[in-house]
Amino acid sequence: MAEHAFAAPAAVTIPIIGDSRVYPVRNVYGVTRNYDPGGEIRARAERPLPAIFAKSPHWVVSPGGTVPYPSATMRLEPEIEMIIAIGAEARGVSVAKALDAVFGYAVSLDLTRRDLQADARTRRDPLDVAKWFEGATPVSALARAADIGHPRAGAITLDVNGGRVQTGDLADMIWQVGEIVAMLSYHFPLHPGDLVFTGTPPGEIALNPGDRLHGAIDGVGTLDITIGKEI
Ligand code: MN
Repeated sequence: MAEHAFAAPAAVTIPIIGDSRVYPVRNVYGVTRNYDPGGEIRARAERPLPAIFAKSPHWVVSPGGTVPYPSATMRLEPEIEMIIAIGAEARGVSVAKALDAVFGYAVSLDLTRRDLQADARTRRDPLDVAKWFEGATPVSALARAADIGHPRAGAITLDVNGGRVQTGDLADMIWQVGEIVAMLSYHFPLHPGDLVFTGTPPGEIALNPGDRLHGAIDGVGTLDITIGKEI
């Protein structure tokens, strides 16, 4: 094999609860607009499809870490989300088979430069600049599906500096985990190491350097991070 021109990036890994091994990250995907607290959207004959997006896998941050306040934004917002960790290849899988490809779940933050996202939407530009920055994806330790099952209900909350800013329930998801995995696997193959954001419940706040964030999902775990100084 030819020698690399420079050192290849080290694998980004996530701790696994109850396992001495770690989970190496491959790709990071997500779906948007997936919570419906009133149930009105879920009651429709045809539910609106979510948008699918991707984030850099290199900016996954381990639990307990500090996220530098990113450059180029005046409005950094958190989105508390359950993230799915894929553990087997999935190509065009049915909803019935989709959960077989799930390794586990974690608590995550889909950090977003909201002002850049809004500008990009107005201009009909690509939205990537809103989601791609150092520290953009803090993730908790993974809970294995073998240990916790596949959560379909339970509180999902985010506290900033001790005050509740987001709250919801996994049961309010418009598209459930199996449906999301099946949907993505028709667009591109999923592989072990792929993470999938599942959307965020209501609640908005602008973050500032020094803020302490505590996310929690019943039956999955907790995530604590601090927003650091501006870079
Ligand atoms: Mn999100």
